Amino acid sequence: MERDAALAWVAEIARSVSAARERLTELDAAIGDADHGANLDRGFTEVTAALATPPETAGEVLALTGVTLIRKVGGASGPLYGSFFRALGKHVGDSADFAAAFADGVAAVQRLGKAEPGDKTMLDALLPAAAALAEGTDPATAARVGAKATIPLQARKGRASYLGERSVGHEDPGAASAALIVAALVATWQGS
Ligand code: ADP
Ligand code: MG
Repeated sequence: MERDAALAWVAEIARSVSAARERLTELDAAIGDADHGANLDRGFTEVTAALATPPETAGEVLALTGVTLIRKVGGASGPLYGSFFRALGKHVGDSADFAAAFADGVAAVQRLGKAEPGDKTMLDALLPAAAALAEGTDPATAARVGAKATIPLQARKGRASYLGERSVGHEDPGAASAALIVAALVATWQGS
């Protein structure tokens, strides 16, 4: 990945997270504490500020994105997305294979959060996106379908799991934001 592609991706995430802030907040109000939209919007605003003087490589851009999210976002999603971008940044440098680097990012989320597929988390969008990237199919569609597929699930990780069966019937906010992050990636590929 080129540095400018990484910068364009992160800028598009910041724009789309800001635009979706209310929707993410509503999703988190239903099965969490109504802060997911604010958490991510604040996080990516901080990321935009940190990248005002961009580092030299795509790997450094993504690593700085991760470190900034870890430092600035309270809530579960900050360290989880922070680990994703930090691992992605580390691996995007040493291989031309973006799909493999993305999978390493997803693996870092899994190591930290210890969630399994079907636990109704961001992984339910990230894992299908990683699989689509590996297969050469559209990761944005895979992530969106994965996020919608969290609706009938009962949460087994994070704050939503405290609701037990009452978490059923709502889209997971982190899966929804993960779908936005992947959609932003595809949007920047199509724009270039
Ligand atoms: P908090 O739950 O601390 O308020 P956020 O609202 O920002 O944090 O993020 C909630 C999202 O984080 C959930 O919708 C879910 O997708 C994700 N999440 C929570 N715990 C985990 C976990 N252990 N593994 C993966 N994702 C998780
Ligand atoms: Mg929350």
